[in-house]
Amino acid sequence: MEYQQLLEHIRAEVVPAAGRGRVADYIPALAAVDPGRFGMAVATVDGEVYGTGDWRLPLSIQSVSKVFSLALVLREDGEKIWSRVGREPSGHPFNSLLQLEHDQGIPRNPFINAGAIVVTDRLLTLTGDARSAVRDFLRTEGESSAVGFDPVVAASEADHGHRNAALAHLIASYGNLENPVPDVLDHYTWQCSVVMTCRELALAGRFLARHGTGASGERILSRSDAKRLNATMLIGGTYDSAGEVAYRVGLPAKSGVGGAILAIVPNRCAVAVWGPGLDASGNSVAGLAALDAFTTLTGWSVF
Ligand code: GLN
Repeated sequence: MEYQQLLEHIRAEVVPAAGRGRVADYIPALAAVDPGRFGMAVATVDGEVYGTGDWRLPLSIQSVSKVFSLALVLREDGEKIWSRVGREPSGHPFNSLLQLEHDQGIPRNPFINAGAIVVTDRLLTLTGDARSAVRDFLRTEGESSAVGFDPVVAASEADHGHRNAALAHLIASYGNLENPVPDVLDHYTWQCSVVMTCRELALAGRFLARHGTGASGERILSRSDAKRLNATMLIGGTYDSAGEVAYRVGLPAKSGVGGAILAIVPNRCAVAVWGPGLDASGNSVAGLAALDAFTTLTGWSVF
């Protein structure tokens, strides 16, 4: 089946699921998004891009940004981050405080909020401006200068960011932050507020399908680090549903509470899906249905 035909087929199958689930409302600005939206884009390793539905509408990538901040830290700083963040499944909600206390301030993986706060802290030390580093990377790899921040979403999250503040302070209490808590939270929150389209997101994730090679052919990550980042997405990218997503989809994937999911098919393509309605773990209901259909129809999974 051709890619375009495949995407249209999936959209027809999944559209009934668009609107199911609950739009994130703990960040009030996200609750204003139309729950019926659905978009999907595929960027192939050899440079083709396909899309369907709302694939050219800007969306709030939220925690999908965590993939790119980790990639930048791995690129700049090698393996050092793994002494400050684990790489095991969490089995807890993405904003859990419970586990962090138990693990004495070493977050279980880089994709729960606590882990991403530590990664952003390191990126801030390395670059002096973590949020711009993430945005600039997404502009380059996403091949679009339109990638930017949404100040309304950033302000809305900052106004309701008590849990993230609690996580950051708890991490700091264990000596696992290098920068002041307000600075780290500020960069983390802005990084989550990045807006871009499914098209741009699929393009930005493509280096992970290309074993670490970026849009212009330069190496972003070593082959090993690209493998490791994909593996970490598989075990932690969808939080306490990582097992279910491995079972249904069988691809490394990273979700965000804006309803986006980025999934990687090594050697073939990156897939970005968007549907704002979330399941109890904070993963897009329509997005997972679409990825489930994608791997079922193509037979492309890592298993
Ligand atoms: N900005 C959100 C938060 O920190 C991101 C969470 C997510 O997308 N899972 O809560």
